[in-house]
Amino acid sequence: MPNGPDRGFHPNFAEMPTDTAHIKPLKVADTAWPLNAADPGRLPVMETFYSLQGEGFHQGRAAFFIRLAGCDVGCVWCDVKESWATEGYLQKTVQQLADEAAAHPARLAIVTGGEPTLYDLSALCDALHQRGFRVHLETSGAHEVIGDFDWICLSPKKFKPPLESVCRQAHELKVVIYHRSDFSWAESYARQVSDSCRLYLQPEWSRCAQMAPLIIAYIQQHPQWELSLQLHKYVHIP
Ligand code: SF4
Repeated sequence: MPNGPDRGFHPNFAEMPTDTAHIKPLKVADTAWPLNAADPGRLPVMETFYSLQGEGFHQGRAAFFIRLAGCDVGCVWCDVKESWATEGYLQKTVQQLADEAAAHPARLAIVTGGEPTLYDLSALCDALHQRGFRVHLETSGAHEVIGDFDWICLSPKKFKPPLESVCRQAHELKVVIYHRSDFSWAESYARQVSDSCRLYLQPEWSRCAQMAPLIIAYIQQHPQWELSLQLHKYVHIP
């Protein structure tokens, strides 16, 4: 899970329901994708915030986050199920989003979700590039990437496997380790990414105490992998 809500911390989430058992992932027909085909210049936005990238290769860098609403993956342990629906969120233009991003000093924008590849993101990438941003994507790889991204972080999910094409495009493979059997699952995706793709193993937050020692031992034996921790959760930033 990329940076995001620590319920009750971020102002946008203070009034969000904590009971999310009734929320179901989107069902998206191939014919309906991308969801913003009629108007690629407009996107449903769950939240925007300025923080530090908490995970992976760019950990610690200041960045403007754009969290789009809508996810059709449906991970059972997802702690941001509020992002699964698209209704009830502001539709913002890509120019609005680029203006919001440009109000901060960093020139790194991270597009996340939900699952942002539900949308044609080419207009958003163009608007951010025009303002001098590098544009990064956080995705499960569930759909083709539409947009000119400078960096793609692929975090595959068991509930909807990533497309091979997205595996080949990824600059960074970040696998969340929930169980000891997940190491072989991680290796199955390491075989699908490019030789230059960076490889990260990250303990699932609620299982960090159990999984971190296993991950450290695994990386010591398989040093092509690196450790990713959710830094933002340790320092209590969004
Ligand atoms: S892909 Fe991300 S937002 Fe979607 S269900 Fe999984 S963890 Fe939640």
